[in-house]
Amino acid sequence: MQPRRPTRQVTIGDERVGLVKVGGGLFGTTPAPVSVQTMTTGYTYDVDACVAEINRLTAAGAEIVRVAVPEKKDTDALRQIIPQVRVPIVADVHFHFQRALEAVESGVHKIRLNPGNIQDRAHVIDVIQACKARNVPIRVGVNEGSIIERRDKQLRLKELGQFFSDNRRGYLLAIMITKLEEYLDIFYEQGFYDIVISAKSMDPVTVIEAYTEISKRFDHPLHLGVTHAGPKETGCIRSVVALGTLLASGVGDTIRISYASDAQYEVEDGLELLYSLALRERKGAELIACPTCGRIQVDLITLVQDVRKHVSPKIDLPIKLAVMGCIVNGPGEAEGADVAVFAGDRRGIIYVQGEKVANVPEEQILERLLAECLAFQDKVKRGEARLGEKTVQIIPPDPIGELGSGWETIAKKQAGGATPLTVGKS
Ligand code: SF4
Repeated sequence: MQPRRPTRQVTIGDERVGLVKVGGGLFGTTPAPVSVQTMTTGYTYDVDACVAEINRLTAAGAEIVRVAVPEKKDTDALRQIIPQVRVPIVADVHFHFQRALEAVESGVHKIRLNPGNIQDRAHVIDVIQACKARNVPIRVGVNEGSIIERRDKQLRLKELGQFFSDNRRGYLLAIMITKLEEYLDIFYEQGFYDIVISAKSMDPVTVIEAYTEISKRFDHPLHLGVTHAGPKETGCIRSVVALGTLLASGVGDTIRISYASDAQYEVEDGLELLYSLALRERKGAELIACPTCGRIQVDLITLVQDVRKHVSPKIDLPIKLAVMGCIVNGPGEAEGADVAVFAGDRRGIIYVQGEKVANVPEEQILERLLAECLAFQDKVKRGEARLGEKTVQIIPPDPIGELGSGWETIAKKQAGGATPLTVGKS
């Protein structure tokens, strides 16, 4: 992991919804944790539905939420939406600079402008001045999909001609950076530096190259994202490969994962990415689960999904919870777990920090696991236990014999007899 790239810091929000700092490290500021943002999928003018979606995304962990404002009824709706939410709201503005002015009037906390479709210098200056008067930051987002000229046919033909020339990616980067530089010059002329930059593409390699280049040229915080990433199943890979690479190299201050799916998945996966790179302190359970194989004797995949659905939401401490299919690889894979279940022949043995607390039939595993997790969480909160502190030690044939998962067969192959299998810190 490379150190975070220092940037100017931008603050989004207000006292009521909370202030989210993005970037930092320059001019005496401390770098803020990388934040996770998302965008609503419903119509902004449908106030009740929009508020409900924003609040659901906030509960899932979104720290900034963007909404589309294609029409005046959307920017009008912001006046009713903002007082009912507890997260900074960003207005996503395209084509009509008036939407940005209206959104600022409605109390929005940040504006996103697209240089690809709001180009009139006077209009851009109007938006900058409105934002400056209210301390509203602006994200300048140069998306691959909208960066090529659309209105001026001559210019469009010229740009497209170069785009399809021998070096598609190189040309795209050049045009993204050139347009960004030209656009930002207007901001600098107006003395406006509350800027976040994004340069998204559907191609993860272009995303990596574009942000890497931009990080060398500008000192503004960067909003990372792979645009049009597709459904969650494949979009996850596209997003994580690009954003993970950039974040590991110290580039990126706020992220949005985009899926053609419920935005809650964007938030959950964005947080998991940051936890995985140790860029954020984990909130809630860390679920470890084996992939299952031909040794499995319980319905582990359903059990893991049930644990995710029913146990994880009730845990607010970073408890390591291992759900393992059998004793063969379970101990190694569950290393360091605070709470672990090892399944066998239609049964599961549950350990809490080294102590075997239950041996239950398959249908009772979920309920008992939940009870043990909650009891352990209470103990930690009362100061009677510490996360990741103790050793889980499993000595065959216990619990293999208890589980009935083939100890005799394993024992025959073990010339030296029982060897302790150790899980956790020794
Ligand atoms: S823990 Fe057991 S069931 Fe799960 S993948 Fe490993 S060997 Fe297979």
